[in-house]
Amino acid sequence: MNIDIHSHVIPTQFWQASDEGQSWFGAKLVQNDGNSYVDTMNRFAGPIEDNWRLNIEDRINLMDSIKVDMQVVSTPPYFFNYHLDPDEGAESARLVNEDLLSYVNYDPKRFQALANVPLQDVNRAVSELKWAMQNGFKGAELSTNVNGLNYDDRSLWPFFKAAEDLDAFLFFHPHAPAGADRMKSFYFANTIGNPLDNTMAIASIIFGGLLDECPDVKLCFAHGGGYACFGMPRMDRGFQVRPEAKRNITSLPSDYLKKIYYDCLTHGPEELQYLVNKVGSDRVLLGSDFPFDMGLDSPPEWISQMQFLDDSSKEAILGGNAQRLLKI
Ligand SMILES: [Zn+2]
Repeated sequence: MNIDIHSHVIPTQFWQASDEGQSWFGAKLVQNDGNSYVDTMNRFAGPIEDNWRLNIEDRINLMDSIKVDMQVVSTPPYFFNYHLDPDEGAESARLVNEDLLSYVNYDPKRFQALANVPLQDVNRAVSELKWAMQNGFKGAELSTNVNGLNYDDRSLWPFFKAAEDLDAFLFFHPHAPAGADRMKSFYFANTIGNPLDNTMAIASIIFGGLLDECPDVKLCFAHGGGYACFGMPRMDRGFQVRPEAKRNITSLPSDYLKKIYYDCLTHGPEELQYLVNKVGSDRVLLGSDFPFDMGLDSPPEWISQMQFLDDSSKEAILGGNAQRLLKI
């Protein structure tokens, strides 16, 4: 069974508001150079392509054509809405979640979902996660930072305690990366900024000690975790030679990499092999970034072509790991 754990659905309510020329929680459709873009807080996503607004039947047909049996759907990161005030954030998260749930209810064999949670207010985020888990979600999708806050910030940890208790799967997706002011050209905010923010999130979680505090929490990172695996020997060196790096943990930072999960979206086969060698094929999950341009066009085919993976490793990455972790 091929399960894509990294696939996005743009909220139906956003499209409906756009059709009427309205914004939706500040997000609006804008035109530029003959293309349409989603504008959230002057962050632009696009150009919008036809497959961004598929009806469910067309989406399933497209999934069939690329041999994806199930998508675990989540919102695109620009609808995290952490920048809204907490009341509005909670309201928009619930609307996003009801929309995601409509996919699961349409056919739970083809769709499962990860909820949006208003992490600008940790209590509200915990409440939304509880509601989501009671209503059939498998977990939640989180940004790699919360309005610039890293995850070593203990004010965010009650959410992870709750996720651990609820056995929720948490999928981190980069958004609003650090250093964006220097990455305005060449699509760098995505191609460099996203993996950089993944790396900072993983490092702050490890060095902050979150995985000692919540040893059973299931954390999974998009885009193969960015540069975290490749950069870890330098972080290990820092841990060995600097007292401030040892403040919260007693094990080598690299020891924690195998306590985290990753999607397979490295774009390079050798980089995927490196990731699998570092963390094991039981820690890597199929993720395509459907329907966006930086995603894999045919994710199961991409994994199937990997000569370094044996059949059981391919089966684990294609769906076995997701079945185990998300109880599918
Ligand atoms: Zn994505």
